[in-house]
Amino acid sequence: MRLYTHPSCLQHDPGPGHAESPARLRAVLQALDHDRFAAIDRIEAPRATREQLLRVHDADYVDRILATAPASGTMRLDEDTLMSPASAEAALHAAGAAVAAVDAVMGDRGGHAFCAVRPPGHHATPNRAMGFCLFNNIAVAAAHALAAHGLKRVAIADFDVHHGNGTQDIFEREPRVLFISSHQSPLYPETGRENERGVGNVVNAPLSPGDGSYEFRELWEGALLPRLYAFKPQLVLVSAGFDAHRNDPLADLRLSTEDYAWITGRLVDLARAHADGRLVSSLEGGYDLNALAASASAHVSELML
Ligand SMILES: [Zn+2]
Repeated sequence: MRLYTHPSCLQHDPGPGHAESPARLRAVLQALDHDRFAAIDRIEAPRATREQLLRVHDADYVDRILATAPASGTMRLDEDTLMSPASAEAALHAAGAAVAAVDAVMGDRGGHAFCAVRPPGHHATPNRAMGFCLFNNIAVAAAHALAAHGLKRVAIADFDVHHGNGTQDIFEREPRVLFISSHQSPLYPETGRENERGVGNVVNAPLSPGDGSYEFRELWEGALLPRLYAFKPQLVLVSAGFDAHRNDPLADLRLSTEDYAWITGRLVDLARAHADGRLVSSLEGGYDLNALAASASAHVSELML
């Protein structure tokens, strides 16, 4: 199991009081510093290249993100997405982590990788930063798997509490990618209805405020995992947000830390069944620092098995 991160991901700072704080990644990395994670192969994430980003983002948008970082303080891109001086660098390494992780698991050793990065990615559309996201890390990884490795079937499982609208926008007409999302509805960004199906390659599964372990597991076991198995993915990608945890301040689902171990184990099984075990996960949300650290640890523990 490989862990990708980069120091710049700790320097991206949307400002005091912002939920998507550097403290989030510090909490995750500190939790993964424990002896039981000593066997993890730790790798400094490279930058994504312009070519890799242009597979999913418009050239004007990439140029704008790389050019607009302020010299000091923060600059607002939308009501909750801000850039600081280190943000462009962090965004390049966050996307680059997922690309490098795909290259690694597609190599001889196969296996699993977790990208402990920020800014997160799944709300970023081809031409718009939103929801704390600048580049769509998991989408850049999926596009890389198609273009550089010639894969025909790449699955993205997104269990962040928010709908991955950006990932859906990018792939809704790309049948080589299956995008499956469970998320709370109603909730930001108010997309992800069941009737949004792309070209049959998008599966949206809304959960209601107050839903917890039972509803989450029933949904994945009964509907979402069967869709993933039927697709027979050659690579499993995961948008790993931990904000459906019951202690999370931004949403109202009631998952426990154990639920994250459970869904991770099921996705590892899927990867073993169809993808020679190849799975790459990238950190999305999770805003209660203790719940985030515990849930990410549970996730990574399963990836080590
Ligand atoms: Zn989220």
